[in-house]
This record gives sequence, structure tokens and C-alpha cells, in this order.
Amino acid sequence: MGINRRSFIRSSSFLLGAVLYPGKNILGTISYFSFAGIKEIRPNIGIYTGRGGTIGWFISDDAVVVIDSQFPDTAEHFVTEFKAKTDRRIDILFNTHHHGDHTSGNYYLKDFVNDIVAYENCVKLQKKFYGKGDKKEKQIYANITFNNEWELDLGKEKMKALHFGNAHTAGDAFLHFQNANVVHMGDLVFNHAYPYMDRPAGCMITGSINYLEKVIPLFDKDTMFIYGHASTDEFVTGSIKDLRTMKDYFSSLLEFVAKEIKAGKSLAGIHKAESVPGFKNLKERWDGAKNMNLKAAFEELNS
Ligand SMILES: [Zn+2]
Repeated sequence: MGINRRSFIRSSSFLLGAVLYPGKNILGTISYFSFAGIKEIRPNIGIYTGRGGTIGWFISDDAVVVIDSQFPDTAEHFVTEFKAKTDRRIDILFNTHHHGDHTSGNYYLKDFVNDIVAYENCVKLQKKFYGKGDKKEKQIYANITFNNEWELDLGKEKMKALHFGNAHTAGDAFLHFQNANVVHMGDLVFNHAYPYMDRPAGCMITGSINYLEKVIPLFDKDTMFIYGHASTDEFVTGSIKDLRTMKDYFSSLLEFVAKEIKAGKSLAGIHKAESVPGFKNLKERWDGAKNMNLKAAFEELNS
């Protein structure tokens, strides 16, 4: 995956040309990217919201780190914006979990990064779900994996990744920049929105509660969190309060569905609920998000 700086510049200028090429669907591109862009949230640290899970980034004189990669087309757009901030190569690309809207862009970013790091189950799940069929050709997997804990000294900054068991999937890790006090949570939090629940990949609601219970005491009111998804771009960053709200949502969801099951309701009957009590303002990021959550709780309680 090693390329030199000259080819970085060459590939990047090719990209600029590609955006203007008349054969390209520019309207599609504009509508995709109308809300997208790079934003600095603390000195040297920021986000990129395009399509898919929020990308995080860190730039210093010592190192460049990118967290998650979205899709090949948005990763390409990210690089065109990012190179205005730094001409250094990306030292580390970190994948928070295997889902395609966080790892498909690895395929594009591979030429710009030295190493890709992920929790070991992230790679296992990526291979299991995308390692066959038409997605197989474009899978790029982390070349460095860890079990439960990983840290790296970045000179004036230090980053640490941890994993606390099944939650959004069986392979979620979060990454803390210790001096900046910024944490990328991946999809452990969907802020103000119904979370995606991927039971075949090991999603567990009880696990999510346990996971967040372990994360919350590690941080404080000054910690800034980056979330994979939110109701709007405005809420892809936030504070520890959001983690407590997410944990309370998971508890309320299980409690509500348990009560409905006890009352003799079928899943179809439970789906008639307009919301989970106390959480009527959660946004459905896709049709059926609320019902997916109710079904996941139903299945988990019946398993
Ligand atoms: Zn996800």
C-alpha cells in the first residue's frame, strides 16, 4: 500500500480533473455533497460528513489519522478536501466496525494510507459479510488488528482504542484522542435517531447498555464525541449526555417490548406503537427504523 508523495500529488490532481469531466454525473455528485465537508471541531481534529458514517480526522506535524472511510466516491471527495489541510500521507486509517458505510471507502483510501487498524472482529465480520460475491473484489481489510485494546503514541497526542463486547455489532471499537479529549464512537451512538440493529452481525441491545455503561465513566463533561450517525449533521458531535440518552433509550426499548410481550402482544401488534415511551422525537434515518428496533428487542427477549 506504499506510494510515494509524488504519486499522491498525481492521483490527487487526477481527482480534480475527474470531478469536472463531462461524462460524470455532476448533478448526482452535487446532491450527494450539498451538505458535505470537512469541519474542524477542536484544534487539529475534525470530521467529514458526506454519505454514510461520519469520518474523523487528526492532523499534526507528527502524524495523520483518519477514522472510517464511508464509500469510495465520498472517500474521494474527502481526500480532495483533506489535501487542502495537509500534504502528509495518512499514517493510520482506523475502522470502528465492518459496516459498508464505514469501510467501503478503504478501497479508495488504500493508496493514501500506510496502515489500516481495526479490532479483530471487525475484520472477521467484514470478511464474512462482504468477502464473497460482487463486493469481494473491492474489500480492503485492516492490516493491523487488535484484541480489546490498542494504543499509539502520536508525539504530542496519544490515541487509544477499546472494545467492550457485542453492541451495535460484535466488532465495535471506539477511539480516544487523549490530549484533545475527543472520542470517535463509530455506531455505538446514533444521536437523536433510531440506531441500526444488525442482529446477524452480533448486535445486542443488552450488550449496548453494558458497553455504554463501561464507556461513560471513562470520560467527562469536556470530552467531545463524534457519532457515526445522527438525526442531522448538526448532531454528529456532542457530549457525554448523548451517551447517557442512548443508553436510556436501549433500556426503555427493552422494558417497553418486554411489557408488550407480557401483555400477550405479537410482533405485529408491538409494531403498532408510534414510538418507544419517552423517545418520540427520535428520527427514522430510513423507513422502518423504529420497527427494526422493536423487532430486534422482541427477538433478543425471546432468544
Ligand atoms: Zn454500523
